[in-house]
Amino acid sequence: METKQFKAESKRLLEMMIHSIYTHKEIFLRELISNASDAIDKLYFKSLTDDSVGMNKDDFAIWLSADKDSRTLRITDNGIGMTEEELENNLGTIANSGSFKFKSENKLDEDSQIIGQFGVGFYSAFMVSKKVTVISKAFGSDKAYRWESEGVDGYTITEDDKKSVGTEIILELLDDTDDEKYGEFLDQYRLQSLVRKYSDYIRFPIKMEVTHSRPKEQTEEEKAENKPLEYEDYIEIETLNSMVPLWKKNKNELKDEDYKHFYTEKFYDYNEPIRYAHVKNEGMPSYNALLYIPSKAPYDYYTKEFEKGLQLYSNGVLIMEKCADLLPDYFSFVKGLVDSEDLSLNISRELLQHDRQLKAIAKSIEKTITAELKKMLKNDREKYEEFWKAFGLQIKFGVYSDFGMNKDKLQDLLMFTSSNDSKLVTLDEYVTAMKEEQKYIYYATGESVARIEHLPQTELLKDKGYEILCLTDNVDEFAIKSINQYKDKEFRNVSADDLGIEDTDKKEEIRAKEEENSDMLKNLADALDGKVEKVILSQRLKSHPVCLTSEGEITLEMEKVLNSMPTDQKVHAKRVLEINPEHEIFAKLRAVSDNGDKEKLAKYAKLLYTQALLIEGIAIDDPVEFSNLICELM
Ligand code: ADP
Repeated sequence: METKQFKAESKRLLEMMIHSIYTHKEIFLRELISNASDAIDKLYFKSLTDDSVGMNKDDFAIWLSADKDSRTLRITDNGIGMTEEELENNLGTIANSGSFKFKSENKLDEDSQIIGQFGVGFYSAFMVSKKVTVISKAFGSDKAYRWESEGVDGYTITEDDKKSVGTEIILELLDDTDDEKYGEFLDQYRLQSLVRKYSDYIRFPIKMEVTHSRPKEQTEEEKAENKPLEYEDYIEIETLNSMVPLWKKNKNELKDEDYKHFYTEKFYDYNEPIRYAHVKNEGMPSYNALLYIPSKAPYDYYTKEFEKGLQLYSNGVLIMEKCADLLPDYFSFVKGLVDSEDLSLNISRELLQHDRQLKAIAKSIEKTITAELKKMLKNDREKYEEFWKAFGLQIKFGVYSDFGMNKDKLQDLLMFTSSNDSKLVTLDEYVTAMKEEQKYIYYATGESVARIEHLPQTELLKDKGYEILCLTDNVDEFAIKSINQYKDKEFRNVSADDLGIEDTDKKEEIRAKEEENSDMLKNLADALDGKVEKVILSQRLKSHPVCLTSEGEITLEMEKVLNSMPTDQKVHAKRVLEINPEHEIFAKLRAVSDNGDKEKLAKYAKLLYTQALLIEGIAIDDPVEFSNLICELM
């Protein structure tokens, strides 16, 4: 008989299990029962549309049986079973298991924490067993197979004569040591309490033969003699779990930890959720839902691999693992499940998309999520900011995408970093704190808050005590542009030509000065060879010599973002080079121009333009030329 080797990752996980000093080894039972329940789910679901299954809901069950003599514990189910190939693929390699992807990034010494928080699956059986045997017959297959393993050395698969469809798992428990009494897992009371603790909500009965004892019937004579009672054992089949799924229970029966426990187990998240909601909608549409907001973004959240969706149940039967239509993209981070009695069971995926009932549920769920987020923002600011750091980007995409269709729903969830103390503010907070005479909501774009703070364009605004929103994500300015106005206040980029702060006298003065210097400004612009639309005298600069702004709809930031996208179409911001007329450099330019030294003026123009690019964080075309120019002029 050939002994097969485990795949490398599986071997590691297996080693982790075998050498684990984890104290809650009892969770192996929960894992095996969950697998059994999933397998039954699959066959039950099939039975609803396929008569050849030949089973009714009441026929499905999970059985536990313990034998103290042979120190074995059996977990049997009449679920879908596994073919030879599935035994090989599912139990010989764990790489498919979603939770392991995360685990493999962790170190072995963190194993106990990982084991505690994750669903670690089938291999956890090796925490308590010296040998594990899985006998399985798949639905629709005429042969049964037996998978056996004593740990890392490998496993064997042979044919078996099991007649009924389903899976039987036999654990040969480890010998007791001074510290660990594995034999306790053969004790009926221990098993009963473990099932209640971890698997109570499993929707199929978990049955066990339980031995009770009762006093023997006494004869009249014995009674008269006052003979002491004798006891006898009898066996009864008991269902150990209450079978009511968590979401169908009354809210007042459930504790905070019940919800959190359910989440970490069911959704393989090692962190507790930041918020949850238990929805019981009685009206139209009628449904129960458990919705969770994770505290951290999954490692693949902002990638194409990430799949959004909620589990969908129809009256307690799982019909879809990830129903994407239940969540809008901007709430794709939400995990959870929906159970509705009104959904038809044998509906195909295609039809489901157009199902009116499902659409109504999705709408109602979206409302709930929005309301929960707003509540969190209002009552638990710290948590909301934590949430925002994990998923804010997604909400900002939501404001911008679909042509801004959802902006009204989402705008009050937005947060940006304020130039005041770099704290996060909402648009409402910004507008409420605006100075009386302040016309616009100001924002600046840049790589980081620190960089934005040093932008010359912000000087005058800060001088006036105006707050500036710092936009550091690519999508930010697009989101702001979609909103356009918030509470009657328009948004203004600090680089925009009209900031609404210019005092008219100064404006006139600068206009006049521009008039006087029009030849020089034109020469400067010409020297830049079409790189800028024009060169003007600035009204917004205080201490800096120059800055780069833009004219029209496309800003410098938008140009940067749009041109980094993989399309052929390139956009151009109309660049404007602003020169500070109060700065010494202006007098210097004037002098050079008056001398008629056109060549030198052109060099100055290039230098100032390049400087402005650097301040904006835009790559410069020719660093060598820039460097040469500096040396030359020095
Ligand atoms: P996970 O449950 O996270 O996928 P497991 O290691 O617990 O990982 O199980 C691996 C796979 O083996 C399962 O996904 C399932 O396909 C299969 N499996 C495990 N137990 C059973 C069972 N009792 N009946 C049918 N299939 C099972």
